[in-house]
Amino acid sequence: MSTSPPRPYILAETNWKTVKDTEYKLAVLPWGATEAHNYHLPYATDNYQAEYVIERAAKVAWEKGAKVVVLPMIPFGVNTGQMDVKLCINMLPSTQLAILKDVCEVLSRQNISKLVILNGHGANNFVPLIRELALFYPEIFVSAVNWFKAASKKGIFEEEGDHADEMETSVMMNIVPHLVLPLQEAGDGATKKFDAKGFHEGWAWAQRPWTKVTKDTGSGNPYKSTADKGKIFLEQTISNIADFLYTVCTKSVDDLLT
Ligand SMILES: [Zn+2]
Repeated sequence: MSTSPPRPYILAETNWKTVKDTEYKLAVLPWGATEAHNYHLPYATDNYQAEYVIERAAKVAWEKGAKVVVLPMIPFGVNTGQMDVKLCINMLPSTQLAILKDVCEVLSRQNISKLVILNGHGANNFVPLIRELALFYPEIFVSAVNWFKAASKKGIFEEEGDHADEMETSVMMNIVPHLVLPLQEAGDGATKKFDAKGFHEGWAWAQRPWTKVTKDTGSGNPYKSTADKGKIFLEQTISNIADFLYTVCTKSVDDLLT
């Protein structure tokens, strides 16, 4: 836990004295998951990553003058394909929509007209939820950011993957090295894939039955991970997301359209 003074852009740390006099324009809701990440990474991997990235991106945006506030993290994500993995905690998309409606109701009453959902988990899909929110809260501009897609992995990582892979392991080695087991304790993250043309070419999709797809719960080989690779990827994602927050916060919706 940080011992520095309260940061005015982190709601969990700041206070009424600051909040009552600050005209926040953009709220950011970080959203993660609680799930197994191969043998070597913690269950809250997605939460550590999303929180690390958003706190730093919000700092940059705030110091440039954007009135942004980061709400406390929602720690559970959609894990409907992993109900046979012990203590993988599922939150249904319909529950996520209910939470988002409650948050938008508050923002609407308080004239905070922009919300960014900062997503840290691949199976959280906020697009259909944002479409539904737009019907009930047309006055609020809602967007979703997948932080892990906010920079290119090319030239940094060698192995493909999307769960506890080289990228996620490298990032965790950089931000919470004390929570990462030695790589020789990790599985190789090998996965089975659905064998049909539509799946191979990416124009068909089905949920993967996780424990049939991977032996170690990972997807992607983590053995080439290093803290330095994680640092480079984090710097790029944080910088890109900081620019995004600043732009969304300071421009009107009309000005965002060119
Ligand atoms: Zn993850």
